[in-house]
Amino acid sequence: MLIDSHAHLTFKDFDPDLEEVIRRSLDCGTQIINASADYETSVQAVDLAQNRDGMWAFIGCHPDELANEEFNIDKYRKLALSSKKVVGIGEVGLDYYRLDNNAAEIKSEQKEIFLQFINLAQELDLPLVLHGRGKKDDPYGVYDEMLEILKAEVSAYAKASADRRSMKSEVKGVIHCYGGNLEQVKKFIDLGFYIGITGIVTFKNAKELQAIVKEISLDKMLIETDAPFLAPDPYRGQRNEPSYVKYVCQKIAELKELSFDEVAKATHENTCRLFNLK
Ligand SMILES: [Zn+2]
Repeated sequence: MLIDSHAHLTFKDFDPDLEEVIRRSLDCGTQIINASADYETSVQAVDLAQNRDGMWAFIGCHPDELANEEFNIDKYRKLALSSKKVVGIGEVGLDYYRLDNNAAEIKSEQKEIFLQFINLAQELDLPLVLHGRGKKDDPYGVYDEMLEILKAEVSAYAKASADRRSMKSEVKGVIHCYGGNLEQVKKFIDLGFYIGITGIVTFKNAKELQAIVKEISLDKMLIETDAPFLAPDPYRGQRNEPSYVKYVCQKIAELKELSFDEVAKATHENTCRLFNLK
């Protein structure tokens, strides 16, 4: 049994053959969690999962989409409470890729909304599905900023629960499509986070990510496609789909000198444990 822990089957790319894509994945034993990019795709992801075994949904607003939406956290709270199929909050986080250097206002809005989602996740006892992307000339700084925000929330939680006055649950989740360095990955793991590995790991030039996969414990890894993006080799450049998550699993097995089944079993268990899938 495999699970694609992060796909976007709500995107237009799948309009022509959505049912076939879902069937291809579920029929070969690959379960699917759809992540969301805004309120509209959040509603669609919940709908898609609603009456289907082996499918779940994350709801949230991607930082790049904030400009296109009249943001209101209450809508997301209501949606999360409307269905047991909502198993995480995401993808949420920070994205500076398209910003120019003096976009201070947009950055602080992103941070403010990220914080609202962190608090919603704690309120509802749901894991966070984090997205981080820095500028081309500074790919790592954004992860440091995310770590700083998360660390403050984790220690506020620890303090409140030591005083027995916390009504919230702990901060937990996954850093999806990880693109930071090894030192940063260790900090995310220390804070209790898992690392999501996409098809990028199969690319010849992904030396840093491959080294990270060799180094970190399999207990902390989830596998994902981020479909329709990031198709693994041998489909690089084409539309990605959940059934291709097996190529990610295969590459991790090769890098860690384990069997395919060992990696499939461990990543499936990790995903079920984190998102409380039944
Ligand atoms: Zn995504």
